[in-house]
Amino acid sequence: MPDQPVRPLRAPAALFADRHIGPEPDDRAAMLRTVGHASTAELMAAAVPESILSAPGVPARLDLPEAAGESEALAELRALADRNRVLVSMIGQGYYGTVTPPVITRNILENPAWYTAYTPYQPEISQGRLEALLNFQTVVADLTGLPVSGASLLDEATAAAEAMTLARRATKGGSSTFVVDSDVFGQTLAVLRTRAEPLGIDVVVADLSQGLPEGDVFGVLVQYPAAGGAVRDPRPVIEAAHERGALAVVAADILALTVLRSPGELGADIAVGSTQRLGVPMSFGGPHAGYMAVRQGLQRQLPGRLVGVSVDSAGRPAYRLALQTREQHIRREKATSNICTAQVLLAVMAGMYAVYHGPLGLRAIAERVHERTAALAEGLRALDAEVLTDSFFDTLRVRVPGRASSVVEAARELGVNLFPVDQDTVGVSCDETTTPEHVALVLRAFGAQGAVSPAASGAALPAGLVREVDYLEHPVFNTHRSETSLLRYMRRLADKDLALDRTMIPLGSCTMKLNATAEMEAVTWPEFAGLHPFAPLDQAAGLVRVVRDLERWLAEVTGYDAVSLQPNAGSQGEFAGLLAIRGYHRARGEEGRDVCLIPSSAHGTNAASAVMAGMRVSVVACDDNGNIDLADLRAKIGKAGDALAALMVTYPSTHGVYEDTITEVCRLTHEAGGQVYVDGANLNALVGWAKPGEFGADVSHLNLHKTFCIPHGGGGPGVGPVAVRAHLAGHLPNHPNQTEAGPYAGVGPVAAAPFGSAGVLPISWAYIRMMGEEGLRAATETAVLAANYVAKRLEPYYPVLYTGANGLVAHECIIDIRGLQKRTGISNDDVTKRLIDYGFHAPTMSFPVPGTLMIEPTESEDLAELDRFVDAMIAIRGEIDRVAEGSYDREDNPLKNAPHTAEELTSDDWKHAYTRAEAAYPLPSLRRSKYWVPVGRVDQAYGDRNLVCACPPPEAFGE
Ligand SMILES: *Cc1c(COP(=O)(O)O)cnc(C)c1O
Repeated sequence: MPDQPVRPLRAPAALFADRHIGPEPDDRAAMLRTVGHASTAELMAAAVPESILSAPGVPARLDLPEAAGESEALAELRALADRNRVLVSMIGQGYYGTVTPPVITRNILENPAWYTAYTPYQPEISQGRLEALLNFQTVVADLTGLPVSGASLLDEATAAAEAMTLARRATKGGSSTFVVDSDVFGQTLAVLRTRAEPLGIDVVVADLSQGLPEGDVFGVLVQYPAAGGAVRDPRPVIEAAHERGALAVVAADILALTVLRSPGELGADIAVGSTQRLGVPMSFGGPHAGYMAVRQGLQRQLPGRLVGVSVDSAGRPAYRLALQTREQHIRREKATSNICTAQVLLAVMAGMYAVYHGPLGLRAIAERVHERTAALAEGLRALDAEVLTDSFFDTLRVRVPGRASSVVEAARELGVNLFPVDQDTVGVSCDETTTPEHVALVLRAFGAQGAVSPAASGAALPAGLVREVDYLEHPVFNTHRSETSLLRYMRRLADKDLALDRTMIPLGSCTMKLNATAEMEAVTWPEFAGLHPFAPLDQAAGLVRVVRDLERWLAEVTGYDAVSLQPNAGSQGEFAGLLAIRGYHRARGEEGRDVCLIPSSAHGTNAASAVMAGMRVSVVACDDNGNIDLADLRAKIGKAGDALAALMVTYPSTHGVYEDTITEVCRLTHEAGGQVYVDGANLNALVGWAKPGEFGADVSHLNLHKTFCIPHGGGGPGVGPVAVRAHLAGHLPNHPNQTEAGPYAGVGPVAAAPFGSAGVLPISWAYIRMMGEEGLRAATETAVLAANYVAKRLEPYYPVLYTGANGLVAHECIIDIRGLQKRTGISNDDVTKRLIDYGFHAPTMSFPVPGTLMIEPTESEDLAELDRFVDAMIAIRGEIDRVAEGSYDREDNPLKNAPHTAEELTSDDWKHAYTRAEAAYPLPSLRRSKYWVPVGRVDQAYGDRNLVCACPPPEAFGE
């Protein structure tokens, strides 16, 4: 390597990398001096074990296109967008045209205050998005008629799968049978089957309008309205299920529920579905927010996150994630689900759509959709077509013997996509965007001659199922009728929160790096956002090209042979990767291999995913240095014997260290017949230096919402591609509606849409396209440099828990608060809350080690911001010392009372032993720019004892 202090980036073509990477060359040189290395290359060579490099001291080569500038990359994306053809979609099947109010597109979807936020684990700096999520939960709870709704799941199909496993846990009977009505979406059934098989659940498909088949069952699922459009009364099925001691799951269309009686009212235990059609673009399959709501008594079983109401230190109402101890680290092998990242940004959008329209507006949309459908049915009956659906909301099945494909083709010629059900049947769905002209086009495709003017027709909802119960009566859904009012409401919420547009978010393991505007721009282009996931592939040629490029580039970056972009979160990539391992062993006749070794330091999703994939988890100990204990590994491999399926390990480790035993760990596993799964969430420490697929791993998932710049959105969306070596490629996910989405004999779909959350893939595409090989490598090197810089500067004040070779960390570092806590009573919780007074989002708390903080600065933070953070941490250490010396009281001090609200600080009776200035302005720089936290420390236990998960009445705020 050239021994220049700082390798200059290749200007000017790599200009974007210079913008993505925070520290300037001079700053990098200064940071290197602090860390004690002459160049970033030398630092990397010292930190990264030689065994994972292709040659000593030499980084991996990446065969990627030359880096493009921002304008160039956007022009290329523009050209790809132009290759898509967005037709009027009347395909339905869970995805519908919808109008995103522009005020929501610009101020939520395109607003970094919303899209760069993190999951609201720190409730005090997350009150805005927590309120927005509570709106979402209220919409779902009101419309489904079930009291407790979660804050989003990944999509409708996976929500149905979560409901299936919930039903099994909750019934605890001996039955392993889950009965699914034959008239459900094909993708829902397919995902249920993928998820059921490894758990030994029998999915029995039956026409439940003929009654429940004989035998023991633990749950049933019906769709309401059915996939074919029929609105059937689910009560007979629900009652039959309850008589057998089973739970009833209703997959319900959220818009239809504004005019149909709710699942809760009809007796359902669980409702699931998608909120896509509440103003979220189809985007070729996602991201959108799935939902689940449950009846009283099941709330503690709910997968994913749940927002609840609690109180803060002054007794004011305050929001926070409820029942967190339930989710904490997804409870490893005892997990109820592996859901971590969900779909927060999209849930916020759907909630805002309801705020925008209010109950009457939503009903008006539903009624219009229904009227169009009724007019269409009327028009079709006048033609030579048999409308098979008598009672419907928005979807019809039309019988045209032998002519289905010619009708679909004729419609396509007219610019409309219909759904080909079989040779004799066509499906048509209306939605918010359907106009009388669209209806007329469909009638022409079915053979109507000349000008058609479809007549309005009577409603076709069964009388007994017409909704009578009101919904969305809370003022929030009835106040913001003017755009001015809504704009200010959204601004008020955003202003309460800390996101990347205000401060660095040094969350270890989460890689909160820049989400550049140039990367984000294409997401809302109608040529990408308007595509239905089951549209013919030739209409999506440009987006498919994005998919294929990204698959190839990610394979190049990781050293694997094949990639599937279908998993829509890291957790889902884990599940898919473990299914590939399972499929591989089975294909070789080694069904008995079902033990998954997981180090004790692993992320909670790892063990949860292993259980979902039908594996038994065996925990491998870590030694005092945080590394995998090789002796224990050998022992556990020996104990597993022929049952060893896999070892699942994060690299660099969750301790933020490049373990130099990794190749040995891979070898031992392979020798025993196991496969190696490397959790790639920490790939930001490897890109351009080492490739897991080359240093011994068989499969990894990546988190595009960490390393590859998809924003966290406050807890989603995410994309968790799974990458495998060639021998596992035949066991990747596939999809029943799209043969191009995966291998012929794959393991089935792990998400509802063939290419997962395809709508956000242009973000990662743009990142790689604009960074190129050198930019990506420089990002990794700068991330490692920044982590070592922070570690070095904090070391005199807080012990750095683990380091690797040469005393270096990888891209994150863990500082230990336990010693200080023992001496002073100040906990890591107090430190994180005090950081809020300094204007910072806390680092990751107590993961992977209780009583510690894990700091990941990323490459995108400039030196001034890194120093601002370090200065805050040093000042906090000074405050802790004052507690130790006794000049601060052990209980009444700025740390224990943090964060301090403006209300408290300006109150006429200030009772504390320290001054207001010490509380509010501990550093002079805060006088120039200060974040005012809207609530004091939130009482977690109170909210769990008094669970409230819908919008509280205004009186609760004393208004
Ligand atoms: C973030 C993370 C995951 C889970 O990813 P999600 O997208 O949140 O499901 C898994 N493993 C590690 C080490 C992670 O940091």
